[in-house]
Amino acid sequence: MFTLMSLPFDQTALEPHISSRTIEFHYGKHHQAYVDNLNKLVAGTELETETLENIITKTAGKPEQAAIFNNAAQTFNHNIFWSCLKPTVTPMTPSAEVLEMINTSFGSLDEFFVELKKVALKQFGSGWAWLVTDGSKLQVMKTANGDNPLTHNLKPLFALDIWEHSYYLDYQNKRADFVDAVLANLINWDYIHQNL
Ligand code: MN
Repeated sequence: MFTLMSLPFDQTALEPHISSRTIEFHYGKHHQAYVDNLNKLVAGTELETETLENIITKTAGKPEQAAIFNNAAQTFNHNIFWSCLKPTVTPMTPSAEVLEMINTSFGSLDEFFVELKKVALKQFGSGWAWLVTDGSKLQVMKTANGDNPLTHNLKPLFALDIWEHSYYLDYQNKRADFVDAVLANLINWDYIHQNL
C-alpha cells in the first residue's frame, strides 16, 4: 500500500512563486490521485509489495502495463519534485561540491539554469525537466508525460514538473515565468547535495 508523502513545507510556504491553491490541487488532488490509482492497479498482483522504483523499471516500455507505469512514475516524480523545493527568505546556494560539479558539467551556475530552462520549454505538452547524474557527471534532460530518468539508467537530482497543472493557476500559459521563478527562488540545493 503506497501512501501520499507528507509535504515537506506548509501549503502556503512557496508563495508567491507557487500559490497555496496550486499546491492544494497539485499535491492534494493530482499527486493523491496517482497514489490512489497505483494502489488500485497493483492490488492483488505481484507488484503490490515492490518498491516504486522496481515497479517503474519492471513496467517501463510494456504497453499492457502502461497504466501501472504511469501512476507509479508520477507518484515517484512528484515525491522528488516536492523534495526538491524549499521555501526560504533568501534563496539557497549550492554546496561547494555541487557547485564544482555544476561548473564542470555546464560551465557555470547560470549556464546550468539556461540549459535546464531550455529543455523545460522544449518539452512539447506534459512532462518533466530534470537534473540527473550518470554517476560521474551532471546533465539536464526532459521526459514526456510520466517518463523519468530511472528508465534511462540515470539518477534524478532535481525534478521540475512542467505539466500545465503545475503552473496554470498561477502563470496560465507562461511556462517560462514559472520555470524562472522556481529556478531563482525555490531550489532545495541540500536535496541535490545529499543525493549526489
Ligand atoms: Mn504534477
